[in-house]
Amino acid sequence: MLECAVKSGWDQFIEFVEARSSSAEFKNWIAPIRCLESSHEETILEVPNIFVQEYLLDNFKDVLADFLPLKGTGEPAIRFVVAETPRPQPTSTEMREPQEEVASSPHLKLNTLYTFDHFIEGPSNQFVKSAAIGVAARPGKSYNPLFIHGGVGLGKTHLLHSIGQYVLEHHKKLKVYSITTESFITEIVEHLRAKSIDKMKRFYRSLDLLLVDDIQFLQNRLNFEEEFCNTFETLLQQNKQIVITSDKPPGQLKLSERMVARMEWGLVAHMSVPDLETRVAIIKHKSELKGLNISSQVAFFIAEHIYNNVRQLEGAVNRLCAHSRMMSDSLTEDVVERILSEMFQTDAPNKKISVENILKSVATVFEVRISELKGESRHKEITIARQVAMYLAKEMIDDSLMKIAASFGGKTHSTLLHAWKKVSDQIQVNEPLRKQVQMLRRNINS
Ligand code: ADP
Ligand code: MG
Repeated sequence: MLECAVKSGWDQFIEFVEARSSSAEFKNWIAPIRCLESSHEETILEVPNIFVQEYLLDNFKDVLADFLPLKGTGEPAIRFVVAETPRPQPTSTEMREPQEEVASSPHLKLNTLYTFDHFIEGPSNQFVKSAAIGVAARPGKSYNPLFIHGGVGLGKTHLLHSIGQYVLEHHKKLKVYSITTESFITEIVEHLRAKSIDKMKRFYRSLDLLLVDDIQFLQNRLNFEEEFCNTFETLLQQNKQIVITSDKPPGQLKLSERMVARMEWGLVAHMSVPDLETRVAIIKHKSELKGLNISSQVAFFIAEHIYNNVRQLEGAVNRLCAHSRMMSDSLTEDVVERILSEMFQTDAPNKKISVENILKSVATVFEVRISELKGESRHKEITIARQVAMYLAKEMIDDSLMKIAASFGGKTHSTLLHAWKKVSDQIQVNEPLRKQVQMLRRNINS
């Protein structure tokens, strides 16, 4: 019998995605989807649950459009059917037991450097720091939930983990769990697949302290929001402590009224940009931790030029460390300016930067096409340009890595991280590249 030589669009899509995802990602999200029918008009896909459908559309809509028939609107013409009968599950040896992994090592998810001791206090964060200490000292008995919001890189995750660390140390019997909203969503999906969602619920409901990072990623994820809200209410009713971080106050999040009301129930604390003195103190503290000796004058100089993001201050210290490991010149203002000029801020209007803006600028500067940046070519010039675009996207856009990576023609977040690391290293040693990146940044910001 003749084998059919022409692969269906769906099979091609599967091949494409499999080559570009981590095996866990592929196994959990893509492999469970079955193509029931494909014609010139539409593709019918069977998904085990609604979450897999959401994941597919969130991450691969553009890629699907390249492989499957389209609707008049240009969107892929897909009809989803949710599987009714349970499908056979993998045998226990190949099936991951999310519950065990989660329960056995909760504190491993806390960054051990993120403690109250290492958190420098100033007028911008005094209030929120003392609220955090209050909660850590008497979990469930002071403000509940504690909701911390503020811009990117201002220390929200640092404080969240400090609470976790403090509680683990001072209230040894309490069960602490820290999770990002993205991993919470992944956990739900994995447990749904493994038919162990009840176990997951039991696990969450047994916690004494739940730390949830970046709740803004729950927006537009209706199905997950409900699950989250239920967990949340159960814990609050039992006086179990919840701490949440977000880039916006509850009322500005696109979440249900019920959810917003619950989050406003306790204490909502805002974190703002640290003032000059606090920034200087942070630079000095971070450089001491790294064994780098910088004068107060230089610390002031940096703090004057990098002013709205502590993570960037830290990046500056790291860069100076790398420099002083390689060179013996002393860190004068001139030297520091040369090393850090690319990071120094100009008062750019606060405009929203998109991956498309970045692709456009990078394509112009490197003289390549946008489609090549999103494509797979390994041609040296294109690869470098693509990595620079990914680097800039990670640096300049405040969104989930998974989403940013998907905008590069469906790449994975590990590809994005790899590119970011590569370019971060390169610009330390490659002066022309550093200049190009600097020029691009200005161009994209303007
Ligand atoms: P966010 O979660 O708000 O985006 P992070 O908590 O990840 O920010 O903080 C970014 C970096 O800045 C971290 O390395 C953190 O240690 C550091 N940082 C932020 N605020 C402070 C502070 N007040 N004192 C010391 N380090 C800080
Ligand atoms: Mg954070």
